Amino acid sequence: MEKKNIDWSNLGFGYLQTDYSYVSNYRDGAWDEGGLTEDHTVTLNECAGVLQYAQTVFEGLKAYTTDDGHIVTFRPDLNDERLAASAARLEIPVLPKGRFLEAVTKVVAANAAYVPPYGSGATLYVRPYIFGSNAVIGVKPADEYQFRILCTPVGPYFKGGAKPITIRVSDFDRAAPHGTGNIKAGLNYAMSLHAIVTAHREGYDENLYLDPGTRTKVEETGGANFLFITKDNKVVTPKSDSILPSITRRSLMHVAQEYLGLQVEQREVYLDEVKDFAECGLCGTAAVISPVGKIVDHGREICFPSGMDEMGPVTKKLYDTLTGIQMGRIEAPEGWIHVIA
Ligand SMILES: *Cc1c(COP(=O)(O)O)cnc(C)c1O
Repeated sequence: MEKKNIDWSNLGFGYLQTDYSYVSNYRDGAWDEGGLTEDHTVTLNECAGVLQYAQTVFEGLKAYTTDDGHIVTFRPDLNDERLAASAARLEIPVLPKGRFLEAVTKVVAANAAYVPPYGSGATLYVRPYIFGSNAVIGVKPADEYQFRILCTPVGPYFKGGAKPITIRVSDFDRAAPHGTGNIKAGLNYAMSLHAIVTAHREGYDENLYLDPGTRTKVEETGGANFLFITKDNKVVTPKSDSILPSITRRSLMHVAQEYLGLQVEQREVYLDEVKDFAECGLCGTAAVISPVGKIVDHGREICFPSGMDEMGPVTKKLYDTLTGIQMGRIEAPEGWIHVIA
């Protein structure tokens, strides 16, 4: 298969149309067969449930080329599980068993020409989503839904090395107690846009959101979970019902314990104790880990000993090990790598 003529290493993170998307419709109480489409537009009634009441959930994963030339995705079974949990919370019908993996496999295989070559640092970003598609005006779930997967090639997250970022403690919350913080729903992002735009305007890279109940504990940023490293090399991640369960974070915790022999802890992390950690990182599919050099809490600066020039040493080990596993340079735990071609 011939690759598209794309300057892979200079790609940004933007939408670039590929040849195929996947589409399946839910009508009369059942999902249809579904299949590939070359139509990249969606036509909806003006009153569609997604447009009026934001009834939509999504996932994000990447397809990439390993060391030995295979096209793979990383732990897509967990995206499947999480999409089902998100859908259930918003009264969206779950997909038939096996459908998610079948659809991801099909659409990535069909777009193989857009999967960047090994070593380019670029990946094919895969975005599955489900939305209420029929007209709804009274507040209730839609009766009809569409499940789509779009693919778009994206560039290396860190161009020229991973520079530590500066984040601020936000005065906005990203989730309500007992709300939807633990599902991947578009509505969680809509309400974070004002916070991120103002953070950028004020010179910060991201927002640190506190727990919405007491505003004393660390939750996550708009799209990534926290990892902290203690001065005695323990890996700590915040525990809360309103954090989105990141697959990258769960994988890194496993790697820390099983591959690096580090102690791991998932527990409540108070903002007051953050100054005592040695390293800090944000984890998510896009970057795997973005190192955090500084957290600013209303003028008070918390500077991690790892500094503003490079990733902390333990963060770096975690990053190298997980990316090594993903790329096929280090043996993966059973079931982590889903081979597509
Ligand atoms: C998607 C997402 C993450 C990262 O999850 P991954 O599965 O690691 O990509 C973290 N926080 C939020 C709010 C998210 O939406």
